Amino acid sequence: AKSEGRDQFSFFTTTLNAKVHEEVAIANDMYRAFSDGEFELYYQPKIHIESGKIVGAEALIRWNHYQKGMISPDHFINIAENTGFILKLGTWIIEETAHTIKRLQDAGYDRVHISCNVSTRQFQNLNLYGEIKNAIQKNKINPKLLAIEITESVMLDYLEITLETLKKVKALGVNICMDDFGTGYSSLSYLRQLPIDSLKIDKSFVDDISCCEQNETILLNTIIAMGQTLNLHVIAEGVEEEYQMQYLKNRGCGYYQGYYFSRPVPEKTFFELLRTNYAS
Ligand code: C2E
Ligand code: CA
Ligand code: CA
Ligand code: CA
Repeated sequence: AKSEGRDQFSFFTTTLNAKVHEEVAIANDMYRAFSDGEFELYYQPKIHIESGKIVGAEALIRWNHYQKGMISPDHFINIAENTGFILKLGTWIIEETAHTIKRLQDAGYDRVHISCNVSTRQFQNLNLYGEIKNAIQKNKINPKLLAIEITESVMLDYLEITLETLKKVKALGVNICMDDFGTGYSSLSYLRQLPIDSLKIDKSFVDDISCCEQNETILLNTIIAMGQTLNLHVIAEGVEEEYQMQYLKNRGCGYYQGYYFSRPVPEKTFFELLRTNYAS
């Protein structure tokens, strides 16, 4: 039994080592990938649920690796956060989002807003506000067309600094969206302190909608009602089926994103989608 335990232990350390090696390899490769231009933003349309038209998009990072192909953000965002690379990448994401808004404006889509994800770690960058302001001014974009998505974990550390940054960003005219809502630590009182404009309901609640029965999903209904009470835009993520969209529509959820309408797509494809689905 003793040797069996040792075998299991060595199995454990071997797999652990492999995982650590893989992560170190990814961490080291990010800087090269960045200068080689392997990162790209994809755009997933946000749909006004009543009209079925596109009102905006969420920018989602993709890593197009020269050997490994597409690497999903789930495989590198965490690592980038741990190494601090997210600060460099995050700056680029904000600038790139602003460029895209500029191109949209120039093409006459002057009411399509784009949101980008800002990781909690980026709030430790004391120049986050300055970077957002620069991106807006350099590209001469309407700040109302830019939104940032934050998660509930921003409220865990450095609450005072984070709150101050958020208020300054908000004062620029930028919209602030609470992402993955319902999965974290927010209480109603926290939510009221934050200068947010919209709530994004996490996919896990959308998954709770059942297809054939008339079952109500209490949590989901409560979140929608909470958003309405606080006068926030409510958007559901991860909508894959028509019945999910229909349920959300009936409960007064204003907007949705999901494969039901479109996956995240390259900028060029997003422009093509707009051509036929823009709420003009
Ligand atoms: P998130 O911000 O919650 O983004 C939503 C994720 O759900 C995206 O995965 C999106 O492609 C996926 N999704 C959208 N609709 C559907 C659907 O109908 N069904 C299913 N199954 N999935 C759907 P993605 O692009 O792989 O991103 C994963 C996570 O990585 C994001 O979750 C976010 O936390 C992070 N991430 C992505 N891009 C960025 C970025 O630019 N910056 C930062 N800081 N994080 C990012
Ligand atoms: Ca998001
Ligand atoms: Ca989300
Ligand atoms: Ca989510």
